[in-house]
Amino acid sequence: MNRRQLFQSTAVAAAAAMQMPAATTPLQKQIRITALETDLVTRPPGEPHYDAIHKLGVDQGGVTIRIKTDAGITGWASTSFGMVPGGPKVVRAILEEEVKPVILGLDPAFPRKIRSELWKALEYHGVGGVVHFALSATDIAIWDIIGKAAGVPVYKLLGAYRDRMPAYSMCGWYYDNDKDLSRYRKSMETAFEQGYKAIKIKVGRYDLDDDIRRVRLAIDLAGKGRRVMLDANQIFNRNEALRRGRVYQDMGCFWYEEPMPPHEMDGYAELAAKLDIRIATGENLYTKYAFADLIARKGADVVQPDNRRAGGVTEWMEIAAIADGYGLELASHGGGSANMNMLLAMPNAIYMETSGKQRMIDGEVPAPTAPGMSTEPGAK
Ligand SMILES: [Mg+2]
Repeated sequence: MNRRQLFQSTAVAAAAAMQMPAATTPLQKQIRITALETDLVTRPPGEPHYDAIHKLGVDQGGVTIRIKTDAGITGWASTSFGMVPGGPKVVRAILEEEVKPVILGLDPAFPRKIRSELWKALEYHGVGGVVHFALSATDIAIWDIIGKAAGVPVYKLLGAYRDRMPAYSMCGWYYDNDKDLSRYRKSMETAFEQGYKAIKIKVGRYDLDDDIRRVRLAIDLAGKGRRVMLDANQIFNRNEALRRGRVYQDMGCFWYEEPMPPHEMDGYAELAAKLDIRIATGENLYTKYAFADLIARKGADVVQPDNRRAGGVTEWMEIAAIADGYGLELASHGGGSANMNMLLAMPNAIYMETSGKQRMIDGEVPAPTAPGMSTEPGAK
């Protein structure tokens, strides 16, 4: 290419660039939140099932939230309750009467600012409990807006680490009329047929002999190369948690979840020090401050924030980063696309909890592809 040709080609490229200004995204301008809408979601009663302390599957419901903007983008999120008939109505009232007036007019591209404003507005009755269900759903809807405005799935905005997530099936519940464990066995066989390489079962509802029977069956069905996690749902005191934990450990289980009530921080530290089996907990903790307390006391090996309770994307990712800073593993409590977008961005994430039939490749769920959180109905 001589100088004349070089000049011409450069000029052509420059002209082309002038005719094609860089694409702008809605995030380059200020966006305003214009509306917050909610729907109560009721689910028909399913088959009753039990963990050590709860009856689940009968009274279930939730709230769907939509946050609208002047950019024409709507953010979606939903929150659910497995057993509290009044919970969704309370969360809806908080969203409609307390969250909405605070966030109208704010720019959704500033989720930490919005969180700060909401904490100030709601701290009088406490940033925890059902209030945090409302704030967490709000934050997830806001991140759905941010991802849609940027045109990418949120895990790519958060700093993606992988594009597939190992998943385990929460399948081994207690069922009515199941003394011979046939219903329990079927649930685990189905999970392995569905392609899971790890399952979780409930323990602690009855005596240790019953636990041993359930655990042995699960370990036998799993065979070599598949894992069994146990969940005691807060049922034990410190002595019993240790006594049974030693047995579960010797049987080769992968983790021992929520043996005691979540506020027993010292008890968790003691147990984690005395047992080699991974201690998993966190699904009933609210905000990074509770997790920081647990983690600083060395009370967990696997940190399990729940994105309805712990916080939405903003708070959840901070919890995940604190855990990473302490060299701890991370697993979501619950599944779905909101959890996937967050887990995929964390190198210390080891599992997503889920159940039932999922699209899986070698025991792993592929990343969502839709821009945003994929929390809008129908998003993939
Ligand atoms: Mg649990």
